Amino acid sequence: MDILIGTNNKGKLREYRQIFAGLPIRFYSLSELGLVLDVEETGGTFVENAILKARAFAAAADMVALADDTGLCVHALNGAPGLHSARYGGAGLDDAGRRRLLLSEMHSIPDEARTAHFETVLALAFPDSPRIITVRGAVYGRILREERGNNGFGYDPIFVPKGYDRTFAELSPDEKDRISHRGRAARKLVPILEDLLAGVV
Ligand code: IMP
Repeated sequence: MDILIGTNNKGKLREYRQIFAGLPIRFYSLSELGLVLDVEETGGTFVENAILKARAFAAAADMVALADDTGLCVHALNGAPGLHSARYGGAGLDDAGRRRLLLSEMHSIPDEARTAHFETVLALAFPDSPRIITVRGAVYGRILREERGNNGFGYDPIFVPKGYDRTFAELSPDEKDRISHRGRAARKLVPILEDLLAGVV
């Protein structure tokens, strides 16, 4: 079986390939298939956006396609940046700019109210049928007042997962994968992929 992983993010590709390593499936990235595709994320939920992307990738590649949608939801900000995590603050900001903006928006929020979670929805779409499979993974924690650590990407340096005293950016890639939103969602997909390979579903 061949599956397109609808991303060019090297960190995500490494994580997915590691989690799915035991399966007899060949995984391709968008660039490995020569695909340049910018899918508009017009959905109102992580599920809708993941499905939009997976369907677009499956149609473009004529292959089973996996897509994800992820966001950081800060509870005291009513779930922001949430669906808009990648575009938070507008197109002019990079990851560091988005982190600075979030920390300034949270300036007056006391330590005990700085809870947040990362959420990932993975959608698997099929080129020859309308069926869709989705799984969700989340990790809960809190947002610091300043950055710590050099690993990871995005909001990692300001997020401390529950039960830890280090940020995601201070964990090794393996430690992060074991508890991350994306790792949790991807591991739920493993038995589903096994069933697909066996022709059970
Ligand atoms: P995307 O849907 O994976 O593109 O992610 C949306 C936003 O969340 C982007 O700003 C990413 O940098 C951020 N993000 C996604 N996954 C993670 C993660 O594992 N750690 C920190 N930030 C992340």
